[in-house]
Amino acid sequence: MILSDLLNDLKKLLPNGVNLLAVSKGHPSKSIRLLVDHGQLEYGESRLQEALPKTIDLSDMDDIRWHFIGRLQANKVRKVVQIFDFIHSVDSFSIAERIARISREENRSPKVMLQVKFFEDPTKGGFSVSELQEGWQHLTELSNLNIIGLMTILPIGLDLDVRRKLFKDCRTFADELGLKDCSMGMSGDWQEAVDAGSTWIRVGSLLFGDRVK
Ligand SMILES: *Cc1c(COP(=O)(O)O)cnc(C)c1O
Repeated sequence: MILSDLLNDLKKLLPNGVNLLAVSKGHPSKSIRLLVDHGQLEYGESRLQEALPKTIDLSDMDDIRWHFIGRLQANKVRKVVQIFDFIHSVDSFSIAERIARISREENRSPKVMLQVKFFEDPTKGGFSVSELQEGWQHLTELSNLNIIGLMTILPIGLDLDVRRKLFKDCRTFADELGLKDCSMGMSGDWQEAVDAGSTWIRVGSLLFGDRVK
């Protein structure tokens, strides 16, 4: 199937209020350009080194909004704040503080989501629920940190009912904190994420096919 048909089919299935983030990591600028021509403006990248040349290639398309979804290293924060409109993967207090400080210096205010683990997974970053509850007051007091929601990534291989429960946990926690957005759901689990109240699904391979490394 061609890319633009896949895009339209997927979009038709999404309820109002659910945004499609096209995860373009591992795919060239020309694939992005094709989707921009079909109205898709939100793109997710997880590595700054890979994203930078694409943002330069596509700088003529100034409606594109770039979303950073990968693990954010301290020394990359300034560039990410300069280029990206959203950061989905804020996974520690120190990175949050750094984003706040640098956003102030750069006069930028990227929309930020806090990555939370609802399932113990040592391979992934993210706040635990209790850690975030304890530090929440502190985070809300940081100026220039525009927190809009929570983000979660589920480990692979979980049963459907477990996935549904964990996505619901994320939605419930976001509601408790008064946050509108939940960035959850990828190619393999976007449907249950949408059912549970996702507002951003992050879809790569379903849309673009297998990634070239
Ligand atoms: C790569 C990636 C995705 C997209 O994964 P697919 O399974 O290809 O849809 C979504 N979120 C994050 C954080 C990713 O790194």
